[in-house]
Amino acid sequence: MRISAKDLGWLKESSFCPRCFWIERHAKGLPYQMGFPGIFSSIDTYTKHIVEKYFERNGELPAWLEEIGEVRRIVSIKPSEFKVVKGDMMLTGIPDLLFQRPDDSFVIADYKTAKYTGSQGEFMPIYQIQLNGYAYISEAMGNKPVKDLFLIYFEPPYKERFDELSSKHTTDGGFEMPFLPKIHKIKKDTAEVEKLLEKAEKIYSSVKIPDGVDGCKDCSRLDGLIELVK
Ligand code: SF4
Repeated sequence: MRISAKDLGWLKESSFCPRCFWIERHAKGLPYQMGFPGIFSSIDTYTKHIVEKYFERNGELPAWLEEIGEVRRIVSIKPSEFKVVKGDMMLTGIPDLLFQRPDDSFVIADYKTAKYTGSQGEFMPIYQIQLNGYAYISEAMGNKPVKDLFLIYFEPPYKERFDELSSKHTTDGGFEMPFLPKIHKIKKDTAEVEKLLEKAEKIYSSVKIPDGVDGCKDCSRLDGLIELVK
């Protein structure tokens, strides 16, 4: 089974349901599925190119990324090659930034276009596994040791500044939007990635569909729907 580092993070969520996971991975062409708007990944791709082009021109990261350290080289990643197989599981995913420091260690960073809500943010446990999943893959591919992991939030401006920004960033061709970076360091713990891969494999390979989470009423509603259309 193939699973992305981000999806693996959902297994750590308190609301994770093994039954949902099993159904999602076994059922093909589920109805009522909605695609996620691509704008956030377009912004992340844009950010990635802004940083890489800056590094190509100046041989260093922009000043607002100073905190993540010195860079010897940015490692280019081929999406089709950035993966690792463990048992029957294949872990995939591509970090936004993988670079090597002058001491030869590696650093991984991922961009998030969102308001930074600190270490208690609701998605932080998922991001922690996502970044550690990238570190796990990177080290398995020989880019090791991965010493540091960072989330880099790019916050959109707040309404208090709209007036000022409107006069500064409106051009004849459209408008530009400035983002404010906030850096959050993630603890490295790739052992947890292995444990979650084992958990995912166990649920996926279960012959019997697992039980749902206690208190979730949607499964009984589904039974009601099935009865209704019979
Ligand atoms: S218990 Fe709830 S979360 Fe789990 S499979 Fe049923 S509907 Fe999904």
